[in-house]
Amino acid sequence: MTLIDDAARTYELDRRHVFHSWSAQAGLDPMVITRAEGSYVWDGEGNRLLDFSSQLVNTNIGHQHPEVVAAIAEQARKLATIAPQYANDVRSEAARLIAERAPGDLDRVFFTNGGADANEHAVRMARLATGRPKVLSRYRSYHGGTQTAINLTGDPRRFPNDAGDAGVVHFFGPYLYRSRFHARTEAEECERALAHLEQVVELEGPQTIAAILLEAIPGTAGIMVPPPGYLAGVRELCDRHGIVLIIDEVMTGFGRTGAWFHSATDGIVPDLLTFAKGVNSGYVPLGGVLLGERICDHFAHRPYPGGLTYSGHPLACAAAVAAINVMDRDGVIDNARSIGTEVIAPGLSRLAERHPSVGEVRGLGVFWAIELVSDRDARTPVAPTGGGSAIMSDAVSTAKSLGLLPFANSNRIHVVPPCTITPAETREGLDLLDKVLGRVDDLIAE
Ligand code: PLP
Repeated sequence: MTLIDDAARTYELDRRHVFHSWSAQAGLDPMVITRAEGSYVWDGEGNRLLDFSSQLVNTNIGHQHPEVVAAIAEQARKLATIAPQYANDVRSEAARLIAERAPGDLDRVFFTNGGADANEHAVRMARLATGRPKVLSRYRSYHGGTQTAINLTGDPRRFPNDAGDAGVVHFFGPYLYRSRFHARTEAEECERALAHLEQVVELEGPQTIAAILLEAIPGTAGIMVPPPGYLAGVRELCDRHGIVLIIDEVMTGFGRTGAWFHSATDGIVPDLLTFAKGVNSGYVPLGGVLLGERICDHFAHRPYPGGLTYSGHPLACAAAVAAINVMDRDGVIDNARSIGTEVIAPGLSRLAERHPSVGEVRGLGVFWAIELVSDRDARTPVAPTGGGSAIMSDAVSTAKSLGLLPFANSNRIHVVPPCTITPAETREGLDLLDKVLGRVDDLIAE
């Protein structure tokens, strides 16, 4: 690897002083990124890579969108920071734009710095509003890295953190490809997953359950689009028992699935909805909780015991206002939807036909997963849940060497480019994936 001068210094200082997330620190080899534009990033050697990851699935509007960058600069000149107790123009406007796009009566926004703290606060609100201790969430889910959020997470990253929130109970959600319910159709999977959840609620005691927390579509855990009727069934179960329904749209929100919010397309209104990432594409950290009437009313005459110094930070809110307006004006949501139906869906089906290592492809919009298996009939994953393998490491480094920045997790490669990606760029990425999958096929056959 030949790094150009600044990149060499960046790398050296990173290795000496930066403590990286989710990693053992020794032996890390982070790629230096020097600049980015639209769907591309440039590494420390000057190579251009197509960003099929949207970083951590957050740059929905692409990199360095000039109007969002200008809005942040303008806001910095005008008012760079202001405490949350004051009313501020961009905060008010961001809240309006977000609330107007949210389903049903989700009209009020509590701003946070990101997705994990949004989930922390949503759970706190649900516990206070119901006076109940427990929260149910799915196995195969990700809700964030702070204490309650990581306990609620249903992947192995929670194991070392499990000595935290005692009120968390996990259950199985629908996942037909690896069904725990012996289902053969989406309809069967839906019915049986709901029956299972109903039983968990009964056995835990509905009067002890504050909330059910669900990603609208589990993202990092594998992009398992819930079958029609599943979210509605969970809504109905919550209504029956006075349980607060929290839908986590941190990854699915703001265009990723070809809609502002996926829960709205599924026809349900949660009591609380959490968001982050795509709200301003992560140009400045921002997340939040959207509150419906029920929870809002609870705190009408009693104080909400929670807050953050940077709640509704003006730079983050200015970025959100600009990003949402650009997405509206330029049809970015429609683009995400049509890239999904017209380019990614047929493209991935072709790759699945050509490559025996592809077990299943699934998704919608610009939100797709490819499951890699060493045996199609047995559906044997090429890496364990939450773990790595030589084949997956090779797939990722092959992709990078070909000029493709992938998002990989366990035995999956996710196709999650910006919502602004063009058809030509998408095809370029799928062609590179074709080569990566060829290499995976060869490695499995060896
Ligand atoms: N919820 C979901 C569904 C996510 O995908 C993520 C992050 O990937 C989070 C919550 C946590 O968000 P953050 O990293 O901003 O705290």
